[in-house]
Amino acid sequence: MASKPPLLSVVIPIYNEEKTIPELVKRLNSLLNILKKRFSFRPEDAEILFVNDGSRDESAEILKKFCGSTPGFSLINLSRNYGHQLAITAGIDVARGENVAVMDGDLQDPPEFVADLFEKMKDGYDVVYARRRTREGESVFKLLTAHLFYRTLKKLTRFDIPIDTGDFRIMSRRVTDVLVSMREQHRYIRGLIAWIGFRQTGLEYDRDERFDGETKFSVGKMLKFALDGITSFSSAPLKLSSYLGFSAAFAGSLYSIYILYLKLFTNNTIQGWTSVMVVVLLLGGVQLLALGMIGEYLSRVNDQTKNRPLYVIEKIYSVETQEHRKNSRVGREDTRRKNESSRG
Ligand code: UDP
Ligand code: MG
Repeated sequence: MASKPPLLSVVIPIYNEEKTIPELVKRLNSLLNILKKRFSFRPEDAEILFVNDGSRDESAEILKKFCGSTPGFSLINLSRNYGHQLAITAGIDVARGENVAVMDGDLQDPPEFVADLFEKMKDGYDVVYARRRTREGESVFKLLTAHLFYRTLKKLTRFDIPIDTGDFRIMSRRVTDVLVSMREQHRYIRGLIAWIGFRQTGLEYDRDERFDGETKFSVGKMLKFALDGITSFSSAPLKLSSYLGFSAAFAGSLYSIYILYLKLFTNNTIQGWTSVMVVVLLLGGVQLLALGMIGEYLSRVNDQTKNRPLYVIEKIYSVETQEHRKNSRVGREDTRRKNESSRG
């Protein structure tokens, strides 16, 4: 039988951070001390979950040794490198806490700030994300592209994906359960969490420089990530050909009328030009329109295959439902129970 769930789980993805780990552990201990002082945490109230995402350095060895001998710390060791978003997912799936926090392992997200996030949850929020007030040691290029990207994404989606936030945040058990039930492959977790809804808010912090080493996100990876963000939450790109098709077909028809007029009522045309132009213009427009139609269907298939719950009910309020209906409910069996039972 599993013991009582802790109040707080902290999920930390780790990829080649051997130099940072000792300092990270020190800072996590200082977080645990703060939690003890401010919220009278007992040792069993917090669990720290490192997720080793196929590191090629000594990270896994160091963490195995440490977690094997320190209560409250666990290592989830993935079979290979799956990338930041999937590493976080693995940690969240395993986490048992009433609240689940996610932070990077490179000390850009100050661990002590988790206590502030936790405190804010007491005001009745389901998600408190950390919003970057400043970002130390980031290139102008990264700052600029991030700035543009978050604003474009906001324009393209129908719900609020908070601007200037990463995955550093804390969420309640009911939000975690919904997130765990969302099994889509291309995961843009901060978007998924925004999609889930409930009461969400931000808390500002100063983002530190990396403790050691370089970012693991190359320009290519960042582009892929940005594309995941946009395509997961918007079919605007797919629908582009519809709009183009409409405009092209419309403009093409107008122009066709004009050149037919030239052909019929003036002598300013070369043999064969009119028929070729009309065919090219109309076919071009029709082709784009047809592509657009395919795009529309594809975007529906795309939405369907994501297999997200259709909606999330916060709670059903009525006299007789006080007890036996659970707080949040998801449209589908969630996978958490399976994880629970296999963990022993
Ligand atoms: N990370 C990971 N898998 C990867 C790349 C990164 O688990 O494939 C971890 C990394 O160890 C760090 C966090 O994800 O704890 C954020 O990575 P990074 O600092 O490189 O990203 P940035 O802060 O530049 O966005
Ligand atoms: Mg970083």
